[in-house]
Amino acid sequence: MNSTGFYGGLGTLVTHYNEGDNPHHAHVTPLYQTSTFGFEDVTSGAAIMCGDEPGYFYTRINNPNLSQLANKIAALEGLDLIRDNPKQEPENIVSGYMFGSGMAAVTSAILALLKQGDTIIAQHALYGTTFHFLHDIAPRFGINVVWVRQLNKEGWENAFAQYPEAKLAYAETPANPTLTLVDLKMVSGVAHQHDAWLMVDNTFASPFCQRPLSLGADIVVHSTTKYLSGHGLIIGGVVVSPHIEYIKNELFEALDIYGGVASPFDTWLTNIGLKTFELRMQRHCDNALALANYLENHEKVERVYYPGLASHPDHGLASRQMMNYGGMIAFELKDGLEAGIQLMNQVKLCSLAVSLGNVDTLIQHPASMTHATVPREERYKMGISDGLVRFSVGIENIEDIIKDLEQALSC
Ligand code: PLP
Repeated sequence: MNSTGFYGGLGTLVTHYNEGDNPHHAHVTPLYQTSTFGFEDVTSGAAIMCGDEPGYFYTRINNPNLSQLANKIAALEGLDLIRDNPKQEPENIVSGYMFGSGMAAVTSAILALLKQGDTIIAQHALYGTTFHFLHDIAPRFGINVVWVRQLNKEGWENAFAQYPEAKLAYAETPANPTLTLVDLKMVSGVAHQHDAWLMVDNTFASPFCQRPLSLGADIVVHSTTKYLSGHGLIIGGVVVSPHIEYIKNELFEALDIYGGVASPFDTWLTNIGLKTFELRMQRHCDNALALANYLENHEKVERVYYPGLASHPDHGLASRQMMNYGGMIAFELKDGLEAGIQLMNQVKLCSLAVSLGNVDTLIQHPASMTHATVPREERYKMGISDGLVRFSVGIENIEDIIKDLEQALSC
């Protein structure tokens, strides 16, 4: 069954969108685990390779599993080029590409757009490896990176006033791991006034909680390793955008040349994981809110960072911009780092592990784990203290997660 007519709920979309269009009408898109595709004859092979005829020829360039899932995730982000182009064959419609990791998606999407001498204006508090890329690697290619630390309108306007030729604004909201928010409508407005684009890493929120394209963003990236695949089985990434020429030309070239393509099997697993996306996300969000409330009222806890709490500095913005508050929480204990280490060593149900968005609850220490590549001074400027603990709240029964924390906090 193709996409026609199924645009209402996310649960319907992930189950039916762009599925079943295969020779045997398999309900789930089959796994096309192949590196290459045969041609009927030289003429049609040449036509497929130069794009005059639809078809696949080499998995680094494209594969039915990859195009099917990229279009489905684009639809989750509110971008439905298949619906909007009913006369086109779905395999001719490209609204994004699947990558071999979230970092392959982030770096390819940026490098596809910028060249030597260009300026990117980026939020300072970012996932550690994205920060590392922008801070240390992009400047090696002559890309000028300007940081925005004050995330209000004035902060972004000042940066654009100083660098009016900037081509791209970059935001991650909620940010990893501080759960700081950026007003995407505001930043896209400022960027567009300067003919720049806005790229958003929507990994933490997922399209269940937030759709940056509807707030003016031009490019959305995800680590599909997280909520979209959901089960902690794969590493993957995706880039989607309504700018068809960017996707077909610059991003395609970056995918082809840097070669950061996703594997068909990982993409197929992601499509299976995505089937329960709506159910999982509702549970992640419900559990996270309950856990944030529990922690906020605990005598040993100094501070909880969760956009769904009224005490979060960006709670008002979160309520306007997000449909739900997500499954990620960060907190600090009153006795600081030592108490945090004790807690992380004592949990039994929760796993001490990096990554996020899995069905199981993960706990980790950003300063020594996900953000270890960020110098301490920069980390503190991002709001990541040595004592900050991050939770990716899973879909277990919330009573059991709380029981585990209760015993770990009382050790
Ligand atoms: N963006 C964010 C917000 C992340 O948290 C991560 C990884 O944790 C990435 C991007 C990179 O994703 P991957 O590990 O799939 O490369």
